Order: sequence, then C-alpha cells, then structure tokens
Amino acid sequence: MTVDLLIRDAFLYIDRDWEVANGWLAIKDGRVHGIGDRVEDAPAARSVISAHGRLVTPGLVNAHHHMYQNLTRAYAPVTNGTLFEWLKGLYPLWADLDEESVYLSTCVAMVELLMGGCTTSMDHMYVHPRPFLIDAQFRAARDIGFRFHATRGSMTRSVEDGGLPPVSVVQDEDTILADSERLVGAFHDPAPGAMGRVALAPCSLFSVSERIMTESARLAEKHDLRLHTHLAEDPDEDAYCAEIYGCTPTEYFERVGWASPRSWVAHYIYPTGDEIDRLAHAGVCTAQCPCSNMMIGGGTADAMDMRRRGMRVGLGCDGSASTDHASMWLETRMAMLLGRFRHGPHAMSARDALDMATRGGAACLGWEDEIGHLRPGACADLVIWSISEVAAAGALSDPVEAWLRCAPAVAGTTIVNGKVLVSDGVPVLANLGDILRDHAREARRIQRLGT
Ligand SMILES: [Zn+2]
Repeated sequence: MTVDLLIRDAFLYIDRDWEVANGWLAIKDGRVHGIGDRVEDAPAARSVISAHGRLVTPGLVNAHHHMYQNLTRAYAPVTNGTLFEWLKGLYPLWADLDEESVYLSTCVAMVELLMGGCTTSMDHMYVHPRPFLIDAQFRAARDIGFRFHATRGSMTRSVEDGGLPPVSVVQDEDTILADSERLVGAFHDPAPGAMGRVALAPCSLFSVSERIMTESARLAEKHDLRLHTHLAEDPDEDAYCAEIYGCTPTEYFERVGWASPRSWVAHYIYPTGDEIDRLAHAGVCTAQCPCSNMMIGGGTADAMDMRRRGMRVGLGCDGSASTDHASMWLETRMAMLLGRFRHGPHAMSARDALDMATRGGAACLGWEDEIGHLRPGACADLVIWSISEVAAAGALSDPVEAWLRCAPAVAGTTIVNGKVLVSDGVPVLANLGDILRDHAREARRIQRLGT
C-alpha cells in the first residue's frame, strides 16, 4: 500500500479529543488514510513532507463571507460609518459588479483564505445586478481547487420599498427562486467529498419579502439544502422588525419557518437568552465574525455562552469591506480574545477557539462528517502552520496555545482534497499575478477611480 502523501514529524491536532505529539498523517485519494505516532509504522508514500515539529490542524472552515467586497476594501468614504451608513454608501458601487469582477474577487478571496489556513468557505453572494455571478464563483473555485459552499443570496426590498439598497441590485421574487433552483441543479453536489455545494441565503430579514423567506425554506426542504441569513446583527434591525412585523427578529425568523437544523445565521448579537435557547433547541447554528463586529463597533455575540446553551458556533471573516482581511487564523485569535475579554482568563482557551473554527464551522455548513477534523476518512483538508522563529521563540510547552498566542501565524502548507495549494507560504496558483493585476483594474472601475 502506497499512499499519495505523508506528513511526518508533526504535532497533530486531529480534533478536540485527539492530539498526537510527534506523529504522521497519511493521505490517499483526497482522504485522511491513517494517523500514527511511530514513524516506522507510516506507509510508503509517493510524496513526503516533514512538518519539522510544527502544528498541523484541520483546515479552518469559514462560515460567513462576502467575497466580492474585496473590490471595495477599506473604502475611505465609509470607513467610519454605522452598518446601515456603510451599506448605503457601498450599494451603488456594488451595482457595477459583473461576471469578470466577481470571478476575480472570488479568486483573490480564496487564495487569501488558503494563506490564512482556511480550506472550505461559504460565500454569501446577495448582490445580483447581473445574472450568472455565482456561476463565475464556481469557475474560480474549480480553477483554484478550493472546497466551496456557495450560497444564493437575495434582496427584494430596495429604497423604494423601505429597504436600504438601490433598485439596481435587488431582484423580483420569481427571478430569485428560479435562479436558486437553476444553481442547485447546476452546482449542488450532495455526494461525499463534494468540492461544491449550494445553500439558500436571503440577505436579511429587512431586505427580502416574507415570501422569499418562506419559499426559500420550502426549496431547502425539497432539495435538502442549508439555509443562511444575517440575524439580529444590529439594533436598527430590532426597530425595523418591531415596526414592520410587530415582533423581534428571532420571532420573525421562527414565524417564516427557519428555526430548523438546516439553518445557520451570521452574527446573532442581540437575541434574548430565551431566544438563544429556542434556536439552539431547534438546531440552528451561528457564525460569529469577531473582527467585523469589532470594526463596525456594534457589539458581539457571547459565543461561549451560546455553546453552553447547546448552540453550535462557527467563525467567519465576514465581507472584505467590513473586516477588510480574510485570515481565519486572525478571526480565531480574535474569538479567543473576545471570550477572555468578556469573562476572564478561565472563559476561553485556544482549543475552544480552534474547535469553533473547525468543528463549529463544519456544523454551520452541515458538513461535520467530513470536514473540520482529521480523523481517518475525513477530507484531506489541512494546514501545516508557520510562525516565524522570532515570534515563536520560547514557546515550548503547548503548541496549540502557542499557535494562537504567538502572532502572527500563517499557513506554511495548505492542503485541500489532498492537493497542496499553498507551499512554503506561497500560493501555487500559476497565474496569480495576472489575477491581481486584473483585480486592481476592476477595483478601480467599481470604486470609480478612473484608469
Ligand atoms: Zn455578512
């Protein structure tokens, strides 16, 4: 038996309950084939990588993102706005998105995620000024080899209907529902080891009609899909729901049939304890986005309290124009700092944060059986981490705590589906230079900066 790839001399974090201090991990046919702690037991391999004692973890799972936003990163006119001010300032620019700019922004986002140790990401693509934008995202994912869980986002409510976005980026209900079915038929692969899946993701309770919420839940049931939306992200949302629906965001979420194990929500900052208990009991998962929450300055969910109440919590980097970066390592560190800042040093460890970034994210995507851990049979998605010798000097007693405390860590090697996509810290994508040049041109066009 010869395996495809053997990683040896590693500190293996398989999952929360299994670590191997000086071990090897074998990969065959895109799967974790075996794990061991005696090098003489390791199988023969076509290719061998020595981790030189460094930490190996499952690839981090990104449970909330808006990749297209890297075309408007750190956009000066809105950097100090509230969430709603920020959205209103950027929607007119996003109206100029097209297939090429979405392809390029998706490529940049996925390469950036790989460099930060993320191997599977969702994307919440809810701005559709032109058709076939998610098709362009799947082309990017295939060209890179990234494991991609797209979500068909949507907005129906423009400023003319009391919403925030201009009419040019919203769509009518029938167009959204037909395109959702089309994308599921074209790209959703329910098979084990899939490289592409599709979920349904109306943008938020205040940007779509009630029919889109209820029909999305019905379609998800019909095709066995995940459901995603932003929920209870901002106090303005409470006021909006009280005025339009006569209830809280969580009550409305329940009313439209979304309180189910299919659903995961982004942020969930302002529910009551009783509301968290109800959604946890229903099997709803949450994606916390620590950097985005702190950048917007509006508050953050108490992730450890949610976990104690039985809710599964993953992490997300959120859109590249609110967080402006896409390092899941940084999000994981920020999640740990937030937990400790809130409740003290006993409240949260590096392993708690890593569990959220791996198992928690996989739970959000409904993919816990295959990703977010490295047990034999799991997808061979993993990271050999790299911290500079200077930053790691003296950190000898706990590699997992050192990984999240001694900063910054980047991916030395990132492997997706058994293939090396980042090697020695460098993406292997051959035409990355061309992509960055073209991305710069599209970002200038969309930000109306001229050529
Ligand atoms: Zn978001």
